[in-house]
This record gives sequence, structure tokens and C-alpha cells, in this order.
Amino acid sequence: MNLWETNIRKAVPYVPGEQPDQQRMIKLNTNENPYPPAPGVAESIYASDTDRLRLYPDPEAGVLVNALAKRYRVKPEQVFAGVGSDDVLAMAFLTFFNSQKPILFPDITYSFYDVWAGLFRIPYQTVPLDPQFRICAEDYEIPNGGVVFPNPNAPTGELESLALIEHILQHNQDVIVIVDEAYIDFGGTSALPLLNQYENLLIVQTFSKSRSLAGMRIGYAFGSETLIRYLNNVKYSFNSYTMNQLTLTAGAAALRDEAYFKKTIHKIIATRERVKEEFQKLGFLFGDSQSNFLFVTHPDVHAQKLFEALKEEHIYVRYFNKPRIDNYLRITIGTDEEMDVLLDVLRGYLKKNV
Ligand code: PMP
Repeated sequence: MNLWETNIRKAVPYVPGEQPDQQRMIKLNTNENPYPPAPGVAESIYASDTDRLRLYPDPEAGVLVNALAKRYRVKPEQVFAGVGSDDVLAMAFLTFFNSQKPILFPDITYSFYDVWAGLFRIPYQTVPLDPQFRICAEDYEIPNGGVVFPNPNAPTGELESLALIEHILQHNQDVIVIVDEAYIDFGGTSALPLLNQYENLLIVQTFSKSRSLAGMRIGYAFGSETLIRYLNNVKYSFNSYTMNQLTLTAGAAALRDEAYFKKTIHKIIATRERVKEEFQKLGFLFGDSQSNFLFVTHPDVHAQKLFEALKEEHIYVRYFNKPRIDNYLRITIGTDEEMDVLLDVLRGYLKKNV
């Protein structure tokens, strides 16, 4: 190693699911929404005044923040917006996790958490999920520098109750507790009602999944006015103009179409429940996912073999070669037609190989 290399900040980056560019493929590996964004999104982009792009965007992301505040019945001062929830979470880690004590998160969870902890030099300790991949609230009653977990958890899809979240909050009043609700719209109850009681609670959500806008990169957080102020102070010390003008307009347009939002979510939930029944018939084991993906294992075929067999058929799912989950596949819920092709391929494979 050159001497100058010793001074470089080394990071072990997050590895996102692949984005293959194939005409004929079924992409069930990154939990995107199979349906297009609300029609108003395209209309708002076409109607945008491109001359406005000469100017910097609103650093406060006002149109989006106000629309979110109205939709979720909170004050605009309680809303933070960012470039996808990854950006919001990264800013939140940087702002709120600044203790010598380790932050806590589940051993099986969103694999970006340990990456940010590494990048920002935040000590962390993982807390094992129980054998059914559920969070044990009592395990979070130890000294720590903060807590973060997704609900529903990823990649398991397991939804925890508000009672469990409140238990964790009650035992962690001196640190910030972040609940990552990337998948909450697919059947969960948001922790939003707890916001008024717990000034140390930050709830993070995204437009990437339930609002079909992964490509736009819009995430947001709800918290007490104090938390949001701290978060904005760090953001404005990093990059004032994170969200571009077209994104702000498109995000606000997506929020206006509540009927479309509900319709696509109901479709995905209906497909998910049907696919659960079919997977059961094929002998798969899995939890009762309340997200837009299933996390499955099969007693007779190794997950990695299935992963590769599906890839040969141009069906992309996610395989994590990690402790405790290296025999599982995470499969995004696509359209009914896509899931039928997947089920046919699985049926054929299992018939031949089991
Ligand atoms: N949290 C969880 C649990 C996720 O699975 C994802 C998706 N990779 C994100 C946050 C980030 O999503 P986005 O940045 O697209 O909002």
C-alpha cells in the first residue's frame, strides 16, 4: 500500500440487487412496484417549466414537504425529505448516532445499516432475531447509542406490532429510535400515531415501493420538530440542494392521487396472498410477509440452486449469502402474470429435481 493510501477513508460499500438490462426478463429482485406511477406524475413532469431549471431548487423541498404534511396530518416542521430513504437514513445515522455506545439493530435486516455505521464510524451491535425471525423487544433493553430497525423487517417481511415498537421506545427514551417503514403500506400499521408521545422517534418512509417511484429517488421522515431541525442542520452542512425541481413536482403529484395509490397496493396485496397459497402447495416455508416480497426456503432444494435456475429463465430474485439466511430467497411480488410464470418455472424445477 502507498503511504498516502493509509489516510484514505475506506468503505465497504452496500451491494444493491442487480439491474439487468434485458428485454424479456421478470425482475423480482429489488422490491420495485410492478405498476407504473400515478398518471399525474407524468402529467406534472410534461407540464413543468424547463426554464425553471436555470434556478436552484427549493432547498426546503417545500411543495413536497407541505404535501406530505397535509397527507399525513403532521406539521411541515415535522417532515424531512431526501433522495430516497437511503439518503434520509444516511443523514439520520450521521445526525443521531453520535455516541460511544453501540447502536442496536437486528442481525438479519437491511444490509445498508452496517455500511453506514462503518462509513460514519458508529459502533454497532446486532441483536439476533428469534428462530421465527421476529424481533424480541426485551433484547433492546441494554445500554446503547440508538436503535434502528425496519417494520416490516427486510428481508424477512415480518411485521411487528405497535405495542412492540412502543415497548422499545419506552425502554430507550435517552436515544433516538428510527423505525424504517419502507414497506409499511403493504399491510402494516405505521408508528405515526406514536410521534406526539415520543420526541425521540424518527419514522422513515419512501416513494420507491408503494408509490412506484424508485427511479425518482424520494424518501422522507417524520419526527418531532426538534429532531427534524437537527436533521436539517446536518443536511444543510452537507448539500443544500439534494432534491431536484422535477422530483419535487412529481412527488407532490403522486401524493394527490390517493385512489390510485390504494388501488395498486390492494392489487399487490391480493397477488401476494394468492402467491402465498401457491408457494405453500409447492412445499415452500415462509413467514406471513406484510410487505411486497416473500422470504422463502424449501426443505428439498437449496436456495442458491433455485436462484441460479430462475436466473437461467431470466427471472431475477434476491439471494443473500449470509449467516442464517443463506438458504432463503427474497422474491418481490410482481404482476399476477409475472408471478404465474415464476410459479410455472418453480413447479417444473421441483418436479424434475425433488
Ligand atoms: N429501507 C429498507 C428496509 C429497504 O429495503 C430499502 C430498499 N432498498 C430502503 C430503505 C431504501 O429505499 P429507497 O432509498 O429507494 O427509498
